[in-house]
Amino acid sequence: MMHYAEAAEKDSLHAMGVFGQRLLLIEKGEGCTLYDDTGKAYTDFLAGIAVNALGYRHPAIQKALAEQADKLLHVSNYFYVEPQVNLAERLTAACGMSKVFFANSGAEANEGAIKLARRYWSKKGEGRTNIVSLNGSFHGRTLSTLAATGQAKYQQPFEPLPQGFCQVPGGDVAALEQAAQGAAAVLIELVQGENGVIMWPEGYLKAVQDICRKTGALLIVDEVQTGIGRTGQFLACQTFDIKPDILTLAKALGGGLPLGAVLCNNKADVFSPGEHGSTFGGNPVSCAVAGAVLDEVLGDGFLQVVREKGARLGAGLEEMVQRYPGKAVQARGVGLMRGLQLDAGLPGKQVVLAMQEKGYIINCAGHNTLRFVPPLIISQGEIDAMLSALGDVLGNA
Ligand SMILES: *Cc1c(COP(=O)(O)O)cnc(C)c1O
Repeated sequence: MMHYAEAAEKDSLHAMGVFGQRLLLIEKGEGCTLYDDTGKAYTDFLAGIAVNALGYRHPAIQKALAEQADKLLHVSNYFYVEPQVNLAERLTAACGMSKVFFANSGAEANEGAIKLARRYWSKKGEGRTNIVSLNGSFHGRTLSTLAATGQAKYQQPFEPLPQGFCQVPGGDVAALEQAAQGAAAVLIELVQGENGVIMWPEGYLKAVQDICRKTGALLIVDEVQTGIGRTGQFLACQTFDIKPDILTLAKALGGGLPLGAVLCNNKADVFSPGEHGSTFGGNPVSCAVAGAVLDEVLGDGFLQVVREKGARLGAGLEEMVQRYPGKAVQARGVGLMRGLQLDAGLPGKQVVLAMQEKGYIINCAGHNTLRFVPPLIISQGEIDAMLSALGDVLGNA
């Protein structure tokens, strides 16, 4: 069996250095627990970055995976496959959207959404091409999704980026209203995940929706991170009562396998044959596993329990702010998507490593914010144990 030092050396010799030195060598997972190469156990509050909604080795996922793997792994989109057409039916219903296109990742889903918005206007013969997004947003790493990602550090090294993108400050209604005039679409996250679990001021999201209706700009909601139960409803659109024209999903959708989706309403259903595509998108195995994810997340009472556990986690983080006001500055988030803003004097990295030492995986996002996006099946007991460890770490920091 390989150990950490060997993995780190091989990786540094042979893999491009985009991820730097990794934290651990992970061997296996079970439930909400990960095990490293030494056999040490960690309760996982990162979940593969909000991907593993059902944790590790969930029986429903294992079953769907084994059954589909035994039949067919891939056949291309020249053919129908049952898991894909079934998922299309169920996912459009669960999202309240008309149609879906399956991709492989969040960035690819957003690329599809951007193309769809551009196609909507080119079909009308109107030169509306601009995509308006928000500062601090994150929409992916391809050139177009980088152009939509309002963070200079991701963009500048790769210029020139595709044309027809602009960003405005989040929360600024007037700035958005101006930018949306004549734009093809407004692209937003309902909660900014990578930026450190940023929530919008009361009324802002409704104002964004109203601006889109008034200006005709399509509303694209990027639910790559917030979707599939993360905020305590199946979609954050339901949590915040927003009706997008185009919606993107990925991360948790495939239960740990690569799967993305672009969904649209009737109005935005404008792609014709040949205008978009993907070799692997809607892969039968990913779609079969996604079906199992939907069975669980949409099952009786599941989301109610996510809301209860999310409230408990949120209250626990709020308490850290009361107990350690010089270290923890603000608790943010909704459902099981939570952030704890730390004081600039306490580097998040230090807290992440101290928590890892104690057997908890968390991470640091945005501007020094601890991020908590555990599997949705995390237990109250695991939440309480993590909060107690976090209290010790902050107390000693
Ligand atoms: C992670 C993320 C993406 C990018 O997804 P990839 O699968 O890494 O391409 C896009 N948008 C949001 C909101 C994300 O959190």
